[in-house]
Amino acid sequence: MDCVDRFKAIRGKISPEIKIVAVSKTKPASLIDQLYLDAGHRIFGENKAQELSQKHSLLPKDIEWHFIGHLQTNKIKNIAPYVSMIQSVDSFKLLIEINKEAKKLNRVIPYLIQFHIATEETKYGFSIEEAKSMCDDPLFIGLSNVLPCGVMGMATFIDDESVIRKEFRTLKNYYQILKTSYFNQQADFCEISMGMSDDYKIAISEGSTIVRIGSGIFGGR
Ligand SMILES: *Cc1c(COP(=O)(O)O)cnc(C)c1O
Repeated sequence: MDCVDRFKAIRGKISPEIKIVAVSKTKPASLIDQLYLDAGHRIFGENKAQELSQKHSLLPKDIEWHFIGHLQTNKIKNIAPYVSMIQSVDSFKLLIEINKEAKKLNRVIPYLIQFHIATEETKYGFSIEEAKSMCDDPLFIGLSNVLPCGVMGMATFIDDESVIRKEFRTLKNYYQILKTSYFNQQADFCEISMGMSDDYKIAISEGSTIVRIGSGIFGGR
């Protein structure tokens, strides 16, 4: 099976309303092009600004690029002109800087609030208290060049399904809290990005609307 077959097998098994971000990090542009041409897929995810810029320059311009990694503020300007969604907003400071760059370009950049739901220390993201205090900040309302579209999180790398399920449930709960308290009138705030190659089925059963699948499509890295 090649990446097109693997993509089609996964796409065929999950409900069409759920978006698949094909995570193409470390993979060559030629494989992305293959999925673009032979599967008609348009949504790809990258976690490094420089790699994303390179691929963006090589590939068709109607690809929707999702940024999914930790973004340094000095790299925002490289991806701001074309990125479709920044899934990994992990601090208020970063969001303010994204808004600044988007304003210069006269565009509005959709984003997700990344939560730290795993037990691992290394994963970036907000706690629910931090997210609420950001949303309560008067500065937050004034950010007119970014569009909050929901939440994102990564579960712990572990075989124990009950741990993973619990973390996804926590993320869904955070989504509900924010939706109810801050974004009830905002239809765009509707996405829960959770689930990767090894745990997307669990994530979907817990309410995921976007899954991010890398190795399950492109093979191991
Ligand atoms: C790499 C990555 C993925 C995809 O991981 P796979 O296990 O290869 O499917 C999803 N989300 C994020 C944030 C990633 O960095």
